[in-house]
Amino acid sequence: MDDCIFCKIVKGEIPCSKVYEDNHVIAFLDIAPASKGHTLIVPKEHYEIIPNVPNALLEKTIDVVKKIGCALLKENDGFNVMQNNRKAAEQLVPHVHFHVIPRNNGDGLDVAKWKSSKYAEGEMEEMLAKLKDNMR
Ligand code: 5GP
Ligand code: ZN
Repeated sequence: MDDCIFCKIVKGEIPCSKVYEDNHVIAFLDIAPASKGHTLIVPKEHYEIIPNVPNALLEKTIDVVKKIGCALLKENDGFNVMQNNRKAAEQLVPHVHFHVIPRNNGDGLDVAKWKSSKYAEGEMEEMLAKLKDNMR
């Protein structure tokens, strides 16, 4: 993808603060972090969203998510893993990536907070049936 910012980072055309790199995956600091140490883990090959990524590559990518999470836990109380698919889910860069966001007790960050809702009578069963059907 010629105009993809993360492809340009992978190719070294745009600089990044590289935390980790192997043949398949790169990890670098997010330029606008939710908290200090916020890292993006990116498969080098361009895929837009999770369903497009071959399982073997996804596994390699998650291995790096785990590596970074472990490293961040040496200096922080916890971390969030976030991963957005498509604009509706607030994906800004259309090259699949995982956010690993360091968290600390009482940091007050709004990451991973949503206003919870309720199912109407029978709606949960309907949802369950539909989802299971779509998994076939
Ligand atoms: P998304 O909303 O697509 O899940 O997140 C994209 C992330 O990429 C954002 O957190 C944003 O700060 C980060 N980002 C966008 N452009 C660049 C860049 O050129 N360099 C780095 N290091 N991060 C970027
Ligand atoms: Zn790309």
